[in-house]
Amino acid sequence: MTKEVLFDNAIRDLVLANRILAREGVIDGFGHVSVRHPANPQRFLLSRSRSPEIVTREDIMEFDLDGTVVSGGEHRPYAERFIHGAIYMARPDVNSVSHHHAPPVIPFSLTGVPLKAAYHMGAVAGTDIPVWDSQPEFGDTNMLVDTLEMGKSLAKTLGNKAAALLRGHGAVCAAADIRAICMVSIYMRDNAQLILDTLALGEPKYLSDGEIEKTAGMLLSDMPLARAWDYWKARAGFQGL
Ligand SMILES: [Zn+2]
Repeated sequence: MTKEVLFDNAIRDLVLANRILAREGVIDGFGHVSVRHPANPQRFLLSRSRSPEIVTREDIMEFDLDGTVVSGGEHRPYAERFIHGAIYMARPDVNSVSHHHAPPVIPFSLTGVPLKAAYHMGAVAGTDIPVWDSQPEFGDTNMLVDTLEMGKSLAKTLGNKAAALLRGHGAVCAAADIRAICMVSIYMRDNAQLILDTLALGEPKYLSDGEIEKTAGMLLSDMPLARAWDYWKARAGFQGL
């Protein structure tokens, strides 16, 4: 594939991922998803500041990893674009990042109750999801990750994991590609809801670290990702695209 075709496909898939994560209720009027530039690993693509459900090709902007606008400068960017750039800087293995505020994950950012895989699909978010708290380092803020310094601090807490929680705010997910980022984001949310439901009945028996590793490896392979992507696209109104 030529660079132009790769770039065009990346834009198309990024628009689809915006629509998918909105349709699945992971992101609402807020939250965002990005992809690393397919031809230049020092850049990433992200919508202008807009609700993901209505993002189009024309809304996609290009950034350096430090959050500097490269193209699309006539638009207003997301204040929290630094989350994405800082994670791409720290994680060469990551090619897609999401940031969401799905309500079921929030209690796990507040209480010390761990967000662990309670069922097989939850394994895609990995083991030991860390919690990032902006308070010790940055004091009282407006809770947005709106500087590169804060983004780097968050990326450090994320480490080599697939997801991290932000205290009183939401979560970030990091994955190898755009289909995987949808899978991690959606099933992280569903797993959190299942734990909340289960805790009312008793103490859950979570998946073991070994089960999580094997299950995540299976689910994040090409066949399950292709099958899920087709399903999500259809639900978002893009069947056959
Ligand atoms: Zn946010």
